[in-house]
Amino acid sequence: MQKILNNYDKENIFAKILRSEIPCSKVYEDKYALAFNDINPQSEIHILVIPKGEYISFNDFSDKASSEEINSFFKTVRKVAKQVGIDTSGYRIISNHGPDSHQEVPHFHVHILGGNPLGTLLVKGGK
Ligand code: AMP
Repeated sequence: MQKILNNYDKENIFAKILRSEIPCSKVYEDKYALAFNDINPQSEIHILVIPKGEYISFNDFSDKASSEEINSFFKTVRKVAKQVGIDTSGYRIISNHGPDSHQEVPHFHVHILGGNPLGTLLVKGGK
């Protein structure tokens, strides 16, 4: 079984986006967070919200970020949903943590999915 990483990888793709080494389609930015369109959208609207701090995953963010960062981050998720006009039609927020979740990028992020009916939460036993 794969293990969860313990050390933040400064070369992960979202770290490069934060350093402006690679571009992104920016939706929103403030002191603590950046939101941009997912490069491989799974719904009409698919946005990623990432903290600017170096956190590997949800566990890491929850354990190490300040209350101010955590509070601001989740307010931002809500703000972005409103900004793109899906806060009343509905949306799904997902954060993959670790190997079983298929987390691909080891920088904490929340997916905001919406803009069309999303179907059931998971394909049971999905691989
Ligand atoms: P996860 O599997 O939760 O780690 O999700 C990683 C997400 O990052 C996937 O939905 C990818 O499509 C997305 N992604 C990877 N590289 C980029 C990029 N350069 N710009 C925007 N989204 C990306």
